[in-house]
Amino acid sequence: MSKTLLSIGNLKVYYYTNRGVVRAVDNVSLTVSSREMVGLVGESGSGKSTLGYAIVRLLPPQGRIVGGKIVLDGKNLLELSEAEIRKVRGKEVGMVFQDPLTSLDPLQKVGDQLIETILEHLNVSKKEAYKMAAEALMEVGLPPDRLNSYPHQLSGGQRQRVMIALATALKPKLIIADEPTTALDVIVQDRIMDLLVSLKEELKTSIILITHDISLAAERADKIAVMYAGHLYEYAPSDEIVSKPLHPYTQGLIQSIPDVFVRKEIKEIKGNPPDLANPPSGCRFHPRCPYAIEKCAKEEPPIVNVGKERYVKCWLYT
Ligand code: ATP
Ligand code: SF4
Repeated sequence: MSKTLLSIGNLKVYYYTNRGVVRAVDNVSLTVSSREMVGLVGESGSGKSTLGYAIVRLLPPQGRIVGGKIVLDGKNLLELSEAEIRKVRGKEVGMVFQDPLTSLDPLQKVGDQLIETILEHLNVSKKEAYKMAAEALMEVGLPPDRLNSYPHQLSGGQRQRVMIALATALKPKLIIADEPTTALDVIVQDRIMDLLVSLKEELKTSIILITHDISLAAERADKIAVMYAGHLYEYAPSDEIVSKPLHPYTQGLIQSIPDVFVRKEIKEIKGNPPDLANPPSGCRFHPRCPYAIEKCAKEEPPIVNVGKERYVKCWLYT
């Protein structure tokens, strides 16, 4: 059995806004094994990014982690000082964001950004850092002369490769990739995903892939974690989620995947996700659930283990 790398327990992340307290991640527990890719899926606003950024404690000023623990390789990241968590970012956890143009410094050459990241974390000479930066670029399929390019001189796919080089240059244990291919065309999307999968094997790293696209997660990730309205509703190996989704929300997501080969009726999940400043009582999915019973609106179901590595949060399974 593979070793647990990341263990998130009863995590609560709230935003304190003028509209009230937005409970974006509410009591979520999740484990990620080493060398595993977990797809974190759900509709917009379900709390996926909040969960991802909370791991490295990179939240906007209104966001606060109000409870729980995040243990990476035996270390509770919530107990670290600001200086200590800064060392974890980049070195132990690499981040790949959706839009490299806004996350890369437009005024700095790609090489300088890579070298700066390396020098910030490792005690190496500038010459060694340059060599490592060139290697990191080659690792993501870019020629080393790209070190001299500015971000705007690269294509969208190349920029995303640079982001991945920045995230992997220090060989982190975990990579958090937030919608890494959403801004790219389908062919480039596929290549970037191939690259992430091959880096996972080569660097023996784990990946949390944040995506609204459950078919992408089903294709690439080992496991899928389904979030809805700040709760984790199902967590299981990807093949089981696809062949036998248990939670009514997961069933809805799977049924809404179009199939290019088979003509099938696409069933959309009716209704909209709730306002997390005022979420529904009981099961947060109950206003949209076709199987809701009286109890669903009154009591929140617990998340239960329903098989090897299978978890579901729904009264139908307790
Ligand atoms: P998306 O795919 O659209 O990014 P998501 O599933 O990643 O969605 P989050 O971005 O984590 O969801 O948002 C979860 C909830 O937290 C939403 O209700 C959102 O409105 C709220 N939220 C996110 N960022 C902030 C913020 N800076 N201030 C207040 N509320 C926020
Ligand atoms: Fe539907 Fe009830 Fe299950 Fe929630 S707990 S998903 S409302 S059946």
